[in-house]
Amino acid sequence: MSERTAAEDSREGDALQVTRNTIQTTTGQGEWFTGAVYIDAVAVPVQGSRLSASSVHFTPGARTAWHRHPNGQTIYVTEGIGRVQRSGGKVQAIRPGDRVFFEPEEDHWHGASPTRFMTHLSLVEIDDEGKSASWGAHVTDEEYGASEGLGDPGDH
Ligand code: MN
Repeated sequence: MSERTAAEDSREGDALQVTRNTIQTTTGQGEWFTGAVYIDAVAVPVQGSRLSASSVHFTPGARTAWHRHPNGQTIYVTEGIGRVQRSGGKVQAIRPGDRVFFEPEEDHWHGASPTRFMTHLSLVEIDDEGKSASWGAHVTDEEYGASEGLGDPGDH
């Protein structure tokens, strides 16, 4: 009789191994976001790990404030149509499957398009103080308005 590992045993009889999420969805703080934003934790830094991953859901028109990440950030769009801008750059549309990397300390914002939801996975690494971002001014309607007419369905 062959020996089985614990992992094999846990899958026996029920082909899937599922880790149930017991962490509640949180809302993006008004200090750091404009509009309604919902955040689901995916990975939380523990012990030696610096990785902080979350699934961030932006309602139409919602966006982050201007901010920077000490170790940079990767976002990966999973749903909807969004907007992204680096300081000094143009507002760009982002769609499912698009991946954007922000350099460490690069000033930027990201959010939904004016007429669509957008969800992205966010991957950041905390710094020695446990910080993953530093926050600046809100993105004004004028700055965000520059994102109109990027070819979204419903744009005129
Ligand atoms: Mn960011």
